[in-house]
Amino acid sequence: MEYETVIGLEVHVQLRTQSKMFCSCRADYQSAPVNSRVCPVCLGLPGALPVINRRAVEYTVMTGLALNCDIPRLTKFDRKNYPYPDLMKGYQISQYDLPLAIDGRLQIETEAETKAVGVTRVHLEEDVAKLQHFPADSGGYSLVDVNRSGVPLMEIVSEPDMRSAEEARAYLTTLHSLLQYLGVSTANMQDGSFRCDANISLRPAGSEEFGNRTEIKNMNSFRSVFQALNFEIERQRRVLEGGGRVVQETRGWIEGRAVTVSQRSKEDAHDYRYFPEPDLPPLDIDPVWVEEIRGRLPELATQRCARFQQDYGLSEYDARLLTDSKAMADYFETAVCLQALSGDALNSHAKQVSNWMLGDLSGLLNQDNRDISESPVSPESLVELIGLVGDGIISVTMGKTVLEEAYNTGGKPRRIVEERGYTQISDTSAVEPAVFEALEANPRAVADYLGGKESAAKFLVGQVMKITRGQAKPDLVNQLVTAALDRAKAGVD
Ligand SMILES: [Zn+2]
Repeated sequence: MEYETVIGLEVHVQLRTQSKMFCSCRADYQSAPVNSRVCPVCLGLPGALPVINRRAVEYTVMTGLALNCDIPRLTKFDRKNYPYPDLMKGYQISQYDLPLAIDGRLQIETEAETKAVGVTRVHLEEDVAKLQHFPADSGGYSLVDVNRSGVPLMEIVSEPDMRSAEEARAYLTTLHSLLQYLGVSTANMQDGSFRCDANISLRPAGSEEFGNRTEIKNMNSFRSVFQALNFEIERQRRVLEGGGRVVQETRGWIEGRAVTVSQRSKEDAHDYRYFPEPDLPPLDIDPVWVEEIRGRLPELATQRCARFQQDYGLSEYDARLLTDSKAMADYFETAVCLQALSGDALNSHAKQVSNWMLGDLSGLLNQDNRDISESPVSPESLVELIGLVGDGIISVTMGKTVLEEAYNTGGKPRRIVEERGYTQISDTSAVEPAVFEALEANPRAVADYLGGKESAAKFLVGQVMKITRGQAKPDLVNQLVTAALDRAKAGVD
């Protein structure tokens, strides 16, 4: 039987606010000593009262607008009773029936098609503390770090509109880029600022009814989401084809073994007994404020892609690659703007920056699995390198070597060129002795050329480049070798 895959995603995003969601503790807990970002509110001490972080609400509205959501006038916070030890109060303040943003959509692109994925809701809640468990053989205890508890957490829930792991990956990368463009989150997956859970089920192709679904957790990269979903599609297909039933449960992705394993069945699912948070007033979201936020939405990837084609004469393909990530687009524009140029000169400069970025620099970064924001070669250095090549001081080939050294050492291209003596010899009197040497050392090639074998000249050019260690200007060498051979020819005739 043919099966259709149905995927919905829940993404949790830590917001980049100064303070936590309901107290004045600083939210930048990552680099802080454990249990140092704490106060009576986020410790859940009796009598402590929460206060809503206005910036977190604004960021959530902003995200909702960028996702084409409606922003209802009335919203409120609810208490989600929660029995785990990672929340000091014993409940989490979240949003249940009246989220900040509803009914949106996100346009995604796969190789096969462009489609809109529905966004059910965007709501705001608080993050939980970090637990660290030590197994029995190392003492059998757990440690808790409250720093993360109370950090604003935005949850974006999609409709079950995705039909493959490719579509899920496209949704996540597009959403990830959008959040970085908005500046509402670092959206760093490694440190947990952007986390994804997936609901996945299979149903007979053509059926309208959903099959039993599983929820997958613990996926820490786009790659693991992609792999976990493909694993789960296969697993469920085998269960169904074997005449079995897919058990509705939560499964965890085990990165090292590349499998999902059962963590919790539906019978264990908690009844969170939501009720309106009595310590917080309902929020009346002023439509004027919403429109003011809409007016402040920054330029997003699609608009920037169009502008790059318009302003810098880039191809759609290159512009897309450069604008998919905000960091990449920012790097590009910084590099381009370092030179005050206009018209054709600007376009040609932009094209060179784009070529170096998408070619050699991306190659080096990909090797190390690094983001452009971590590039040891700054936009200033890249522009310096492009200038050295453009001025004919070094050849393109040498430029690649210099870029690699600048990448590895963090040194400035001009300095590297000077220290290593990587200069392109463009002085005739400096190249001529090498031409003479090459002709002397290869009488055979000279004879071949004189006998009519023109390709022998190419060999001799290569020999000159070798003698000058690649530093001679290729067109000059060409010119001098041809002249010397022509002189020899004239002498023979
Ligand atoms: Zn606090």
